[in-house]
Amino acid sequence: MRKVKILGKSWRVVPLRDKSDKAIYYGRTNHLKGKIAINPTTTRQQRLDTMLHETIHVIDGELKIGLTERDVC
Ligand SMILES: [Zn+2]
Repeated sequence: MRKVKILGKSWRVVPLRDKSDKAIYYGRTNHLKGKIAINPTTTRQQRLDTMLHETIHVIDGELKIGLTERDVC
């Protein structure tokens, strides 16, 4: 498990484990648990892209910016 700091808060970065989630998600962010799950079955480049994507979701959630999924993408 890794940790990253985003806007001064620690977030755990873990592999996405749920089999059905791995079939459809590159990653997921759980704001309540402060956890970012990345699908380990994707390429390294995709995992890096996903980490950036989920980081933007975290910033959006923390600052209540109100970005749409399209904005984040
Ligand atoms: Zn997203």
